[in-house]
Amino acid sequence: MTQNAHFIDGRFIDPAPAGERIAVYNPATEAQIADIPDATPAEVDAAVAAARRAQTGWAELPAIERAAHVKAIAARIRDRADEIAETIVREQGKIRALAQGEVLGMAGLMDYMAEWARRIEGEIIPSDRRGETIFLHRVPIGVVAGILPWNFPFYLIGRKLAPALVAGNTIVIKPSEETPLNAFLFAEIVEEVGLPAGVFNLVSGRGRTTGAALSGHPGIDLVSFTGSVATGTAIMQAAAKNLTRVNLELGGKAPAIVLADADLDLAVEAITRSRINNTGQVCNCAERIFVEAPVADAFTEKFVERMSRVRYGDPLAETDLDMGPLVSAVQLQKVAAMVDRAKADGATVALGGHVAERGRGHHYAPTVLTQCRPDMEIMRSEIFGPVAPIAVVQSAEEAVAHANDTEYGLTSSLYTRDLNKAMKVTRALKFGETYVNRENGEAYQGFHAGRRKSGIGGADGKHGFYEYMETQTVYIEHG
Ligand code: NAD
Repeated sequence: MTQNAHFIDGRFIDPAPAGERIAVYNPATEAQIADIPDATPAEVDAAVAAARRAQTGWAELPAIERAAHVKAIAARIRDRADEIAETIVREQGKIRALAQGEVLGMAGLMDYMAEWARRIEGEIIPSDRRGETIFLHRVPIGVVAGILPWNFPFYLIGRKLAPALVAGNTIVIKPSEETPLNAFLFAEIVEEVGLPAGVFNLVSGRGRTTGAALSGHPGIDLVSFTGSVATGTAIMQAAAKNLTRVNLELGGKAPAIVLADADLDLAVEAITRSRINNTGQVCNCAERIFVEAPVADAFTEKFVERMSRVRYGDPLAETDLDMGPLVSAVQLQKVAAMVDRAKADGATVALGGHVAERGRGHHYAPTVLTQCRPDMEIMRSEIFGPVAPIAVVQSAEEAVAHANDTEYGLTSSLYTRDLNKAMKVTRALKFGETYVNRENGEAYQGFHAGRRKSGIGGADGKHGFYEYMETQTVYIEHG
């Protein structure tokens, strides 16, 4: 049983009696499953103050000791993986296998980030002045606010917390109000393993209340946010008044380019998996397909057949599913309305194109749209649902031009058997990540970062770790 309470200064606290509550629903059944507190400004202040008090002592620990705490959390997550995965399924609607992967993948990421404890490097630089040495020290930034979305709610706790803590920062996490319950389980684990009080704090609440209070808080040194472009913009504006640093991972509109020499079976399988992963609610999954004219009909026929075999339903009640519902009624209406506008704009429905008739739950049928033009909304705006729009192109150059003509710049993918074309096209694609002959999915040691409106800064690997540190230069005159 989760405690559904803020976790501040090492303990769960009773929320303010007059504070508002937020209902949490199971998107597969539409049943209410919990309610959670909407943090008051005083509770946000208390969480930030606790993190500030703890930060100096935490940063003074040898990095390897901080990493040991992070690894202890990861180990306990593995012990409780089934329970956490089931909670994610219930509140977010993803299928069990994906939820299990999210939980264990997050524990793996925590262990990976812990390894950086022994690799934090400074520099010693010869000075232009006689008798002086210059040291560049890598130091923690201070107190981090982690503001999270609902699509990979548990993974993102670790993606922000692990580098932050190993680097010597403390953190205040605000989960999405749609999927907060897994974060309370995380707080229970923090309590169980005895992380020093104040190093991790959790406040739940709405974006416009708790999220806004955190991002505009003068006691926060870095806001690390994952979510939509609109919210990222609001957070950056709120942070600007204190010149607080931001790390933003925002939306995407990933192109998948299928060239005439591609292995079509491989492309069909990979793009299907990418498009239905988490019911299409992934920032880096294939959102629009450009296929070269000579193979357009063959690709489309195979792709429609493969998508027609996608099994969907209630992941707690049914087995052998490929995807669950969309996260909320709002998300379902958004996807349905976008497909309706695409139809009105000339797209042809080759598969699906409608809300699923299941009586309850926010299910949308797997959908393939053909005859799409690159200027259509469905080819330009983030869909975040199991809907694949296809446009035919005459050449790789045309595909690249359309792919790059977007305000997003997170990921892209390319299917070809020709190494020369792969090298040429990947260098021409202006995205933070490009996948060749495989579906999306980033590695711990990569760097997940968006260009243009897809974000500022990035996560994972060496570069993602150092996003949580800054450089202090010390000049020592020693004669
Ligand atoms: P969202 O922006 O609606 O909400 C994300 C978080 O921000 C929530 O915790 C919310 O409460 C909070 N928030 C909302 N308004 C706020 C405000 N004014 N100030 C501070 N916080 C506020 O995003 P979402 O709908 O939860 O997630 C979906 C979006 O996230 C998609 O656009 C997706 O592409 C993106 N995403 C990106 C990545 C990535 O790595 N780039 C990963 C996952 C999701």
